[in-house]
Amino acid sequence: MSGSLLVGNIGELVTNGAGEGPLGIRRNAAVLVEEGRVVWVGPSAYAPAADHHVDAGGAAVLPGFVDSHAHLVFAGDRAAEFAARMAGEPYTGGGIRTTVGATRAATDDELRVNVRRLRGEALRQGTTTMEIKSGYGLTVADEARSLRIAAETSPETTFLGAHVVPAEYADRPDDYVGLVCGPMLAAAAPYAKWIDVFCERGAFDVDHARAILACGQAAGLGVRLHANQLGPGPGVQLGVELDAASVDHCTHLSDADVAALADTAHSDGSGTRTVATLLPGAEFSTRSPYPDARRLLDAGVTVALATDCNPGSSYTSSMPFCVALAVREMRMTPAEAVWAATAGGARALRRDDVGVLTPGARADLVVLDAPSYLHLAYRPGVPLIRQVIRNGVPQ
Ligand SMILES: [Zn+2]
Repeated sequence: MSGSLLVGNIGELVTNGAGEGPLGIRRNAAVLVEEGRVVWVGPSAYAPAADHHVDAGGAAVLPGFVDSHAHLVFAGDRAAEFAARMAGEPYTGGGIRTTVGATRAATDDELRVNVRRLRGEALRQGTTTMEIKSGYGLTVADEARSLRIAAETSPETTFLGAHVVPAEYADRPDDYVGLVCGPMLAAAAPYAKWIDVFCERGAFDVDHARAILACGQAAGLGVRLHANQLGPGPGVQLGVELDAASVDHCTHLSDADVAALADTAHSDGSGTRTVATLLPGAEFSTRSPYPDARRLLDAGVTVALATDCNPGSSYTSSMPFCVALAVREMRMTPAEAVWAATAGGARALRRDDVGVLTPGARADLVVLDAPSYLHLAYRPGVPLIRQVIRNGVPQ
Protein backbone atom coordinates (compact mmCIF):
# COMPACT_ATOMS: atom_id res chain seq x y z
CA MET A 1 0.00 0.00 0.00
CA SER A 2 1.45 3.37 -0.97
CA GLY A 3 0.99 6.52 1.09
CA SER A 4 0.37 7.03 4.78
CA LEU A 5 -2.20 5.20 6.92
CA LEU A 6 -3.92 6.62 9.98
CA VAL A 7 -5.46 4.23 12.47
CA GLY A 8 -7.73 6.58 14.40
CA ASN A 9 -10.49 6.66 16.99
CA ILE A 10 -8.69 4.09 19.17
CA GLY A 11 -10.45 3.88 22.53
CA GLU A 12 -7.57 2.12 24.28
CA LEU A 13 -4.14 1.85 22.68
CA VAL A 14 -1.59 -0.57 24.14
CA THR A 15 1.84 0.81 23.20
CA ASN A 16 4.17 -1.10 25.58
CA GLY A 17 5.99 2.24 25.64
CA ALA A 18 5.27 5.56 27.27
CA GLY A 19 1.77 5.83 28.75
CA GLU A 20 -0.37 4.60 31.58
CA GLY A 21 0.67 1.47 33.51
CA PRO A 22 2.91 -1.40 32.41
CA LEU A 23 1.27 -1.54 28.96
CA GLY A 24 1.80 2.16 28.23
CA ILE A 25 -1.89 2.71 27.57
CA ARG A 26 -3.17 5.79 25.74
CA ARG A 27 -6.86 6.67 25.48
CA ASN A 28 -8.61 8.20 22.46
CA ALA A 29 -5.46 7.74 20.44
CA ALA A 30 -4.34 7.44 16.85
CA VAL A 31 -1.33 5.87 15.12
CA LEU A 32 0.18 7.18 11.89
CA VAL A 33 1.99 4.69 9.68
CA GLU A 34 4.34 5.35 6.78
CA GLU A 35 6.29 2.80 4.78
CA GLY A 36 5.49 0.01 7.21
CA ARG A 37 6.61 1.89 10.30
CA VAL A 38 4.87 3.76 13.09
CA VAL A 39 5.82 7.43 12.67
CA TRP A 40 3.47 9.15 15.14
CA VAL A 41 1.32 8.20 18.15
CA GLY A 42 -0.92 10.75 19.83
CA PRO A 43 -4.43 11.93 20.61
CA SER A 44 -6.95 11.08 17.90
CA ALA A 45 -8.18 14.70 17.93
CA TYR A 46 -4.74 15.94 16.83
CA ALA A 47 -4.03 13.26 14.27
CA PRO A 48 -2.17 14.41 11.16
CA ALA A 49 -3.67 14.01 7.69
CA ALA A 50 -3.13 10.70 5.93
CA ASP A 51 -3.80 9.03 2.58
CA HIS A 52 -5.68 6.08 4.04
CA HIS A 53 -7.74 5.61 7.18
CA VAL A 54 -8.78 2.79 9.49
CA ASP A 55 -11.44 3.79 12.01
CA ALA A 56 -11.08 1.70 15.15
CA GLY A 57 -14.52 2.89 16.27
CA GLY A 58 -13.48 3.30 19.89
CA ALA A 59 -12.13 -0.24 20.15
CA ALA A 60 -8.84 -1.39 21.70
CA VAL A 61 -5.70 -1.66 19.56
CA LEU A 62 -2.54 -3.47 20.56
CA PRO A 63 0.75 -4.51 18.96
CA GLY A 64 0.51 -7.69 16.90
CA PHE A 65 1.33 -10.78 18.92
CA VAL A 66 4.90 -12.09 18.78
CA ASP A 67 4.80 -15.90 18.94
CA SER A 68 8.41 -16.82 19.65
CA HIS A 69 7.99 -20.62 19.77
CA ALA A 70 6.25 -22.68 17.08
CA HIS A 71 6.92 -25.92 15.21
CA LEU A 72 5.09 -25.47 11.92
CA VAL A 73 7.05 -27.62 9.48
CA PHE A 74 5.51 -31.07 9.69
CA ALA A 75 3.01 -33.41 8.05
CA GLY A 76 0.11 -35.33 9.52
CA ASP A 77 -1.51 -34.88 12.90
CA ARG A 78 -1.69 -36.78 16.19
CA ALA A 79 -5.32 -36.43 17.13
CA ALA A 80 -5.48 -40.09 18.17
CA GLU A 81 -2.54 -39.60 20.54
CA PHE A 82 -4.33 -36.61 22.04
CA ALA A 83 -7.47 -38.65 22.55
CA ALA A 84 -5.47 -41.44 24.23
CA ARG A 85 -3.80 -38.89 26.51
CA MET A 86 -7.13 -37.41 27.48
CA ALA A 87 -8.19 -40.98 28.30
CA GLY A 88 -5.31 -41.24 30.77
CA GLU A 89 -2.06 -42.04 28.94
CA PRO A 90 0.91 -39.84 30.00
CA TYR A 91 2.83 -37.55 27.60
CA THR A 92 6.42 -38.64 27.06
CA GLY A 93 7.50 -36.85 23.91
CA GLY A 94 7.88 -40.19 22.11
CA GLY A 95 5.17 -39.29 19.61
CA ILE A 96 7.58 -36.86 17.95
CA ARG A 97 8.91 -39.84 15.98
CA THR A 98 5.45 -40.40 14.48
CA THR A 99 5.54 -36.89 13.02
CA VAL A 100 9.13 -37.40 11.85
CA GLY A 101 7.98 -40.35 9.73
CA ALA A 102 5.12 -38.37 8.18
CA THR A 103 7.33 -35.34 7.56
CA ARG A 104 10.07 -37.30 5.81
CA ALA A 105 7.44 -38.88 3.55
CA ALA A 106 5.86 -35.54 2.59
CA THR A 107 6.71 -33.53 -0.51
CA ASP A 108 8.08 -30.00 -0.26
CA ASP A 109 4.73 -28.65 -1.40
CA GLU A 110 2.80 -30.60 1.22
CA LEU A 111 5.03 -29.13 3.93
CA ARG A 112 4.80 -25.64 2.41
CA VAL A 113 1.00 -25.75 2.25
CA ASN A 114 0.82 -26.80 5.90
CA VAL A 115 3.18 -24.02 7.04
CA ARG A 116 1.17 -21.41 5.15
CA ARG A 117 -2.12 -22.75 6.47
CA LEU A 118 -0.93 -22.51 10.07
CA ARG A 119 0.78 -19.15 9.54
CA GLY A 120 -2.45 -17.80 8.05
CA GLU A 121 -4.46 -19.20 10.94
CA ALA A 122 -2.15 -17.45 13.42
CA LEU A 123 -2.25 -14.17 11.49
CA ARG A 124 -6.04 -14.12 11.63
CA GLN A 125 -5.68 -14.42 15.41
CA GLY A 126 -3.37 -11.43 15.56
CA THR A 127 0.11 -12.97 15.32
CA THR A 128 2.28 -10.70 13.19
CA THR A 129 5.67 -12.21 14.08
CA MET A 130 6.12 -15.96 14.35
CA GLU A 131 9.20 -18.04 14.98
CA ILE A 132 9.29 -21.35 13.10
CA LYS A 133 11.43 -24.35 14.04
CA SER A 134 12.58 -27.36 12.07
CA GLY A 135 12.92 -30.60 13.98
CA TYR A 136 10.69 -33.19 12.29
CA GLY A 137 13.11 -34.05 9.50
CA LEU A 138 16.19 -35.15 11.47
CA THR A 139 18.23 -35.97 8.36
CA VAL A 140 20.58 -33.50 6.70
CA ALA A 141 18.30 -33.09 3.69
CA ASP A 142 15.03 -32.99 5.64
CA GLU A 143 16.24 -30.44 8.19
CA ALA A 144 17.66 -28.23 5.43
CA ARG A 145 14.43 -28.32 3.43
CA SER A 146 12.33 -27.71 6.55
CA LEU A 147 14.27 -24.52 7.22
CA ARG A 148 14.25 -23.47 3.59
CA ILE A 149 10.45 -23.74 3.61
CA ALA A 150 10.19 -21.99 7.00
CA ALA A 151 12.36 -19.12 5.76
CA GLU A 152 9.86 -18.47 2.94
CA THR A 153 7.39 -17.44 5.64
CA SER A 154 9.39 -15.97 8.53
CA PRO A 155 12.86 -14.51 9.16
CA GLU A 156 12.73 -16.03 12.67
CA THR A 157 13.78 -19.57 11.81
CA THR A 158 15.28 -22.05 14.25
CA PHE A 159 17.34 -25.17 13.57
CA LEU A 160 16.05 -27.91 15.90
CA GLY A 161 17.90 -30.95 14.53
CA ALA A 162 18.28 -31.91 18.20
CA HIS A 163 14.56 -32.36 18.79
CA VAL A 164 14.78 -36.08 19.48
CA VAL A 165 17.31 -38.78 18.55
CA PRO A 166 15.78 -40.43 15.49
CA ALA A 167 15.08 -44.17 15.65
CA GLU A 168 17.97 -45.07 13.34
CA TYR A 169 20.43 -43.53 15.83
CA ALA A 170 18.69 -44.79 18.99
CA ASP A 171 21.67 -46.91 20.09
CA ARG A 172 24.36 -44.38 19.10
CA PRO A 173 23.28 -40.90 20.19
CA ASP A 174 26.89 -39.62 20.11
CA ASP A 175 26.95 -40.26 16.37
CA TYR A 176 23.71 -38.33 15.95
CA VAL A 177 25.13 -35.36 17.88
CA GLY A 178 28.12 -35.49 15.52
CA LEU A 179 25.77 -35.40 12.53
CA VAL A 180 23.82 -32.44 13.98
CA CYS A 181 26.98 -30.45 14.70
CA GLY A 182 28.59 -31.34 11.38
CA PRO A 183 26.82 -31.77 8.03
CA MET A 184 23.31 -31.05 9.33
CA LEU A 185 24.27 -27.70 10.84
CA ALA A 186 26.22 -26.79 7.71
CA ALA A 187 23.17 -27.51 5.53
CA ALA A 188 20.71 -25.79 7.89
CA ALA A 189 22.64 -22.67 8.90
CA PRO A 190 22.07 -20.69 5.67
CA TYR A 191 18.31 -20.74 6.40
CA ALA A 192 18.41 -20.43 10.20
CA LYS A 193 18.75 -17.54 12.62
CA TRP A 194 18.63 -19.61 15.81
CA ILE A 195 19.63 -23.00 17.15
CA ASP A 196 17.54 -24.91 19.70
CA VAL A 197 17.84 -28.23 21.56
CA PHE A 198 15.22 -30.29 23.39
CA CYS A 199 17.25 -30.67 26.60
CA GLU A 200 15.26 -33.20 28.58
CA ARG A 201 15.49 -36.72 29.94
CA GLY A 202 14.69 -38.98 26.97
CA ALA A 203 15.90 -36.37 24.48
CA PHE A 204 19.34 -34.68 24.80
CA ASP A 205 21.38 -34.53 28.01
CA VAL A 206 23.20 -31.40 29.12
CA ASP A 207 26.57 -32.36 27.61
CA HIS A 208 25.06 -33.10 24.22
CA ALA A 209 22.95 -29.95 24.40
CA ARG A 210 25.96 -27.79 25.28
CA ALA A 211 28.00 -29.26 22.43
CA ILE A 212 25.25 -28.71 19.86
CA LEU A 213 24.41 -25.17 20.99
CA ALA A 214 28.09 -24.22 21.03
CA CYS A 215 28.48 -25.48 17.43
CA GLY A 216 25.47 -23.41 16.44
CA GLN A 217 26.88 -20.33 18.13
CA ALA A 218 30.18 -20.83 16.32
CA ALA A 219 28.19 -20.93 13.05
CA GLY A 220 26.63 -17.56 13.90
CA LEU A 221 23.26 -18.75 15.22
CA GLY A 222 21.60 -17.38 18.35
CA VAL A 223 20.79 -19.78 21.17
CA ARG A 224 17.39 -20.75 22.57
CA LEU A 225 16.35 -24.04 24.12
CA HIS A 226 13.57 -26.28 25.35
CA ALA A 227 14.31 -26.71 29.05
CA ASN A 228 12.74 -28.08 32.23
CA GLN A 229 9.45 -29.06 30.62
CA LEU A 230 8.91 -32.62 31.80
CA GLY A 231 11.01 -32.52 34.96
CA PRO A 232 13.77 -30.65 36.78
CA GLY A 233 17.12 -30.51 35.00
CA PRO A 234 20.12 -28.46 33.97
CA GLY A 235 18.59 -26.89 30.83
CA VAL A 236 17.73 -23.47 32.22
CA GLN A 237 21.16 -22.96 33.73
CA LEU A 238 22.79 -24.15 30.50
CA GLY A 239 20.77 -21.51 28.68
CA VAL A 240 22.01 -18.81 31.01
CA GLU A 241 25.58 -20.08 30.65
CA LEU A 242 25.34 -19.76 26.85
CA ASP A 243 23.53 -16.38 26.87
CA ALA A 244 20.38 -17.89 25.37
CA ALA A 245 17.81 -15.35 24.22
CA SER A 246 15.17 -17.57 25.77
CA VAL A 247 14.70 -20.76 27.75
CA ASP A 248 11.35 -22.24 26.87
CA HIS A 249 8.80 -24.17 28.97
CA CYS A 250 10.36 -23.61 32.46
CA THR A 251 7.72 -25.81 34.06
CA HIS A 252 9.98 -27.43 36.68
CA LEU A 253 12.37 -24.86 38.15
CA SER A 254 14.59 -24.90 41.23
CA ASP A 255 15.39 -21.79 43.26
CA ALA A 256 18.83 -21.84 41.61
CA ASP A 257 17.23 -21.82 38.14
CA VAL A 258 15.10 -18.79 38.97
CA ALA A 259 18.12 -17.04 40.53
CA ALA A 260 20.26 -17.77 37.46
CA LEU A 261 17.64 -16.21 35.19
CA ALA A 262 17.20 -13.20 37.50
CA ASP A 263 20.98 -12.69 37.46
CA THR A 264 20.86 -11.96 33.72
CA ALA A 265 19.00 -8.69 34.46
CA HIS A 266 20.05 -5.66 32.45
CA SER A 267 21.47 -2.91 34.65
CA ASP A 268 18.91 -0.37 33.36
CA GLY A 269 15.98 -2.26 34.88
CA SER A 270 14.58 -3.32 31.50
CA GLY A 271 14.34 -6.99 32.42
CA THR A 272 16.50 -10.05 31.94
CA ARG A 273 18.76 -10.86 29.02
CA THR A 274 17.56 -14.46 29.02
CA VAL A 275 13.77 -14.60 28.82
CA ALA A 276 11.63 -17.37 30.33
CA THR A 277 9.12 -18.31 27.64
CA LEU A 278 6.07 -20.07 29.04
CA LEU A 279 3.99 -22.29 26.78
CA PRO A 280 0.72 -22.98 28.61
CA GLY A 281 -0.84 -24.61 25.55
CA ALA A 282 1.52 -27.54 26.19
CA GLU A 283 0.37 -28.00 29.78
CA PHE A 284 -3.24 -27.63 28.66
CA SER A 285 -2.86 -30.25 25.92
CA THR A 286 -0.88 -32.70 28.04
CA ARG A 287 -3.00 -32.10 31.16
CA SER A 288 0.11 -31.20 33.13
CA PRO A 289 0.74 -28.70 35.95
CA TYR A 290 1.38 -25.18 34.65
CA PRO A 291 4.66 -23.31 35.18
CA ASP A 292 4.83 -20.96 38.15
CA ALA A 293 4.74 -17.65 36.33
CA ARG A 294 4.37 -15.61 39.52
CA ARG A 295 7.61 -16.95 40.93
CA LEU A 296 9.48 -15.81 37.81
CA LEU A 297 7.78 -12.43 37.61
CA ASP A 298 8.28 -11.75 41.30
CA ALA A 299 12.00 -12.52 40.89
CA GLY A 300 12.22 -9.94 38.09
CA VAL A 301 12.60 -12.45 35.25
CA THR A 302 11.27 -11.31 31.87
CA VAL A 303 8.45 -13.65 30.82
CA ALA A 304 7.16 -14.31 27.31
CA LEU A 305 4.14 -16.33 26.23
CA ALA A 306 4.12 -18.43 23.06
CA THR A 307 1.95 -21.17 21.56
CA ASP A 308 4.45 -24.02 21.04
CA CYS A 309 2.19 -24.81 18.07
CA ASN A 310 3.00 -28.42 17.13
CA PRO A 311 0.95 -31.50 16.25
CA GLY A 312 1.75 -33.44 19.42
CA SER A 313 1.73 -31.47 22.64
CA SER A 314 0.08 -28.13 21.77
CA TYR A 315 -1.80 -27.92 18.50
CA THR A 316 -2.97 -24.34 18.89
CA SER A 317 -1.84 -21.29 16.93
CA SER A 318 -3.85 -18.93 19.12
CA MET A 319 -2.03 -16.33 21.19
CA PRO A 320 -5.34 -15.05 22.66
CA PHE A 321 -5.95 -18.58 23.97
CA CYS A 322 -2.48 -18.56 25.60
CA VAL A 323 -3.18 -15.15 27.16
CA ALA A 324 -6.42 -16.48 28.64
CA LEU A 325 -4.64 -19.59 29.99
CA ALA A 326 -1.86 -17.49 31.49
CA VAL A 327 -4.36 -15.35 33.35
CA ARG A 328 -6.69 -18.10 34.51
CA GLU A 329 -4.21 -20.90 35.16
CA MET A 330 -0.87 -19.16 35.87
CA ARG A 331 -2.13 -16.18 37.86
CA MET A 332 -0.63 -13.61 35.54
CA THR A 333 -2.55 -10.35 35.45
CA PRO A 334 -4.18 -9.57 32.09
CA ALA A 335 -1.64 -6.77 31.63
CA GLU A 336 1.30 -9.11 32.36
CA ALA A 337 -0.07 -11.70 29.95
CA VAL A 338 -0.66 -9.23 27.11
CA TRP A 339 2.82 -7.73 27.63
CA ALA A 340 4.35 -11.24 27.61
CA ALA A 341 2.53 -12.11 24.36
CA THR A 342 3.75 -8.97 22.59
CA ALA A 343 6.81 -7.19 24.02
CA GLY A 344 7.88 -10.35 25.90
CA GLY A 345 7.91 -12.38 22.69
CA ALA A 346 9.95 -9.66 21.03
CA ARG A 347 12.51 -9.82 23.86
CA ALA A 348 12.66 -13.59 23.46
CA LEU A 349 13.65 -12.99 19.84
CA ARG A 350 15.96 -10.08 20.80
CA ARG A 351 13.86 -7.73 18.68
CA ASP A 352 13.04 -4.14 19.60
CA ASP A 353 11.11 -3.26 16.43
CA VAL A 354 8.09 -5.46 17.16
CA GLY A 355 5.84 -5.96 20.19
CA VAL A 356 5.62 -2.19 20.72
CA LEU A 357 3.68 0.64 19.09
CA THR A 358 6.05 3.57 19.38
CA PRO A 359 7.59 5.74 16.65
CA GLY A 360 10.09 3.68 14.67
CA ALA A 361 8.45 0.32 15.41
CA ARG A 362 7.14 -1.93 12.68
CA ALA A 363 3.49 -1.12 12.02
CA ASP A 364 1.99 -4.38 13.26
CA LEU A 365 -1.37 -3.60 14.87
CA VAL A 366 -4.33 -5.61 16.01
CA VAL A 367 -7.77 -4.00 16.28
CA LEU A 368 -9.93 -5.85 18.77
CA ASP A 369 -13.66 -6.36 18.64
CA ALA A 370 -13.66 -5.13 22.23
CA PRO A 371 -13.12 -1.91 24.17
CA SER A 372 -10.15 -3.21 26.18
CA TYR A 373 -7.27 -5.69 26.05
CA LEU A 374 -8.83 -7.16 29.20
CA HIS A 375 -11.37 -8.91 27.01
CA LEU A 376 -8.66 -11.23 25.64
CA ALA A 377 -8.72 -13.05 28.99
CA TYR A 378 -12.24 -12.08 30.05
CA ARG A 379 -13.86 -13.56 26.90
CA PRO A 380 -11.86 -16.73 26.20
CA GLY A 381 -12.50 -18.60 23.00
CA VAL A 382 -14.26 -15.66 21.36
CA PRO A 383 -12.88 -14.38 18.02
CA LEU A 384 -12.00 -10.86 19.17
CA ILE A 385 -9.51 -9.98 16.43
CA ARG A 386 -11.39 -7.59 14.14
CA GLN A 387 -8.51 -6.46 11.95
CA VAL A 388 -4.80 -7.13 11.61
CA ILE A 389 -2.37 -4.63 10.08
CA ARG A 390 1.03 -6.09 9.30
CA ASN A 391 3.99 -4.04 8.09
CA GLY A 392 1.53 -1.18 7.68
CA VAL A 393 -0.74 -3.22 5.40
CA PRO A 394 -4.31 -4.13 6.43
CA GLN A 395 -4.65 -7.91 6.01
ZN1 LIG B 1 8.54 -26.64 21.43
